[in-house]
Amino acid sequence: MTLSRRHIIQAAAIATTAGPLIRTGRAKAAQSADVVVIGAGLSGLNAAWIMNDAGLDVVVLEGASRIGGRVWTAHDAVNAPDMGASQVGPSYARVLDALDRLGLKLIDEDRAIMPFTYHLDGQLIRAKDWADHPVNKTVGAERKMAPISLGSGLLAKINPMKELDDWLKPEMAPYDVSVAELLRKNGTSPAAEKLAGLTQELWSTSALGMMQEAFRGAYEAKFSGGSNASRPDQQRVETAPVMDKWPKNIVGGTDQLPIRMAAQLKRPVMMNKIVGAIDMDDGGADVTCIDGTKVRAKYVISCVPFSLLRHITITPEPDALHRSAIGDMGYAETTRAFATIKEPFWQQDGLDPSLFTDTALRMLWMLDNHTGAPNAPTKGPFRAMFVMTWRTAENVAALSPEQASKFLVDELARIRPASKGLVTINRFHSWGRQPLQRGCRHIFKPGQVTAFATDMIKPHARLHFAGEHTRRLEQGMESAMESGERAAIEVLSRA
Ligand SMILES: Cc1cc2nc3c(=O)[nH]c(=O)nc-3n(C[C@H](O)[C@H](O)[C@H](O)COP(=O)(O)OP(=O)(O)OC[C@H]3O[C@@H](n4cnc5c(N)ncnc54)[C@H](O)[C@@H]3O)c2cc1C
Repeated sequence: MTLSRRHIIQAAAIATTAGPLIRTGRAKAAQSADVVVIGAGLSGLNAAWIMNDAGLDVVVLEGASRIGGRVWTAHDAVNAPDMGASQVGPSYARVLDALDRLGLKLIDEDRAIMPFTYHLDGQLIRAKDWADHPVNKTVGAERKMAPISLGSGLLAKINPMKELDDWLKPEMAPYDVSVAELLRKNGTSPAAEKLAGLTQELWSTSALGMMQEAFRGAYEAKFSGGSNASRPDQQRVETAPVMDKWPKNIVGGTDQLPIRMAAQLKRPVMMNKIVGAIDMDDGGADVTCIDGTKVRAKYVISCVPFSLLRHITITPEPDALHRSAIGDMGYAETTRAFATIKEPFWQQDGLDPSLFTDTALRMLWMLDNHTGAPNAPTKGPFRAMFVMTWRTAENVAALSPEQASKFLVDELARIRPASKGLVTINRFHSWGRQPLQRGCRHIFKPGQVTAFATDMIKPHARLHFAGEHTRRLEQGMESAMESGERAAIEVLSRA
């Protein structure tokens, strides 16, 4: 159940009538606060906002020079693309509530991905020809499944989840094996497994972790008027007709949400403060940044991905379960290149505009120039996104942005000669190469859901944990907000 903001603030008011949290401060601490929040992504900002409203003095330390973390609108690039989160779903209760309180508006999503042509085993194949094409070596019902969403489609058929929190139940442990193992056990053909491996890391990902994501995504789509068409790699779901069209985008760019949330805080977020150490004792915690800035507080909430927390020295050392979660949790990579297309080359070669291929280019999402956003072009150059995941993303990101952009444009021209000279990449972005992200999202490796998903969110001494990787029921931005809310309530209940 989602707690309303009023409930949280009432609970907090009771908790804080006992007096200020900080009664003593050590001389070496330059600053003090009730709580230090590490990371100004949505989870950290939501935690700070809730605690501020409840009367606590909160310092937010952000390592980067901008607010938002994985919400990042590139206002300096052509068409100002969102390089991270962009889609707001209809069941995003906390996000929608925050937008409402901040006076931010939503618009219909400013993109629709046009139909795909496949390029597999060196052959260009129309989607309608796939089921009977000689390159298609899959068997039985697999033959009719789109290769771009084969992995999620096959997993959907065996996903046992009925409720959003089922994934944490002990009886789900048999599904906490690699996706490949589970698919094989359920009779997936080698050809289908190979195709599924083009978009998913089959051996190093827990099937149960993926099923949680897929189930939550399908749940979202049920509210969405049948429109998860903007995620071609996800399973399609049957949906009831609804009045409104989802997902939506935030007017002015998704970054307006974290920027405006930060503006609500009593103390401005401290920028360029990379935290290097958290030292806890009986009376409080010292949080030290690599530039020597030190803040002492009663409690700390870490809102950084575990891919970063594993680089922060924590004293006393966490227990074995936390050490394992922080040190070993997997992180997936996504690399994207945002492009404009001078003329619709698909009208020349007669194929469907978007492309899914087994070469390192992997996916080209050709975006319709339909509009929603006030500034979106209705004519002129089409927009497109090269989307690479997993190993392909890592390998292409090993090139410099210039080399990678040239590689993608040349590779597209090799596969679709009609595109030659018509494609310009305006921005290349690798999430794995961002020093303060080191991945686009967490993944559970086989066995990790069972090993630590339930208990890893429990506080360690004065240190609490938030961030999308600590979600329980939600997805995407909403999961970050969910986790920040939970951690804020934990701290408020200890006060
Ligand atoms: C490509 C992509 C597309 C996405 N699309 C969607 C979408 O359409 N819809 C949706 O709902 N969600 C989407 N998401 C997911 C969503 O962006 C995230 O779930 C959410 O923003 C995560 O917020 P967070 O607070 O958990 O983490 P983050 O946003 O990563 O925040 C962590 C913060 O900690 C800071 N930090 C790290 N290390 C340190 C340190 N040592 N000291 C101080 N600060 C530090 C970082 O700079 C960062 O600001 C997408 C994500 C990506 C990458």
